[in-house]
Amino acid sequence: MQNKASEIYRYGGQAQGARPVFASMLRGALLKCPACGVGAMFRRYLKVADACPCCGEELHHHRADDAPAYFTIVIVGHVVVSLVLAVEMAYRPPIWLHMTLWLPLTLILTLVLLPPVKGALVALQWALRMHGFDPDAKEEMVESFDAELAKGPSPRLDFRA
Ligand SMILES: [Zn+2]
Repeated sequence: MQNKASEIYRYGGQAQGARPVFASMLRGALLKCPACGVGAMFRRYLKVADACPCCGEELHHHRADDAPAYFTIVIVGHVVVSLVLAVEMAYRPPIWLHMTLWLPLTLILTLVLLPPVKGALVALQWALRMHGFDPDAKEEMVESFDAELAKGPSPRLDFRA
């Protein structure tokens, strides 16, 4: 009985309590919801589900944008360039062999790494309560924005004064 209230609140969509960064990012990297670690984060290859199908935590607040691509390029670049240099120094293979090895490897590594990198970044945003992931800040932001609008144009922008 004691858990009842918190369960109802969780199905409302915003997990309360601690959000450990490392554990959340690990869950995200495993393509799981950062809040419960059970439900799937993605509903398609790179499409983040609007809400966790298991615990109902809202996931549509994320703003991963092109950060997943950026970090994937950093990782794949370091792995592939290191391998290219090592193989070239050790065996000096012909260029066609380099191409045959590294172009497919680059493509496969990129496609394999994008979802876990994106999952970890979305989970990081969730753990840090960024964007809409903070249930407490959301209404404050909207209220203050409405208040700013009601005041009319900003006096700093009124050059006639
Ligand atoms: Zn969940």
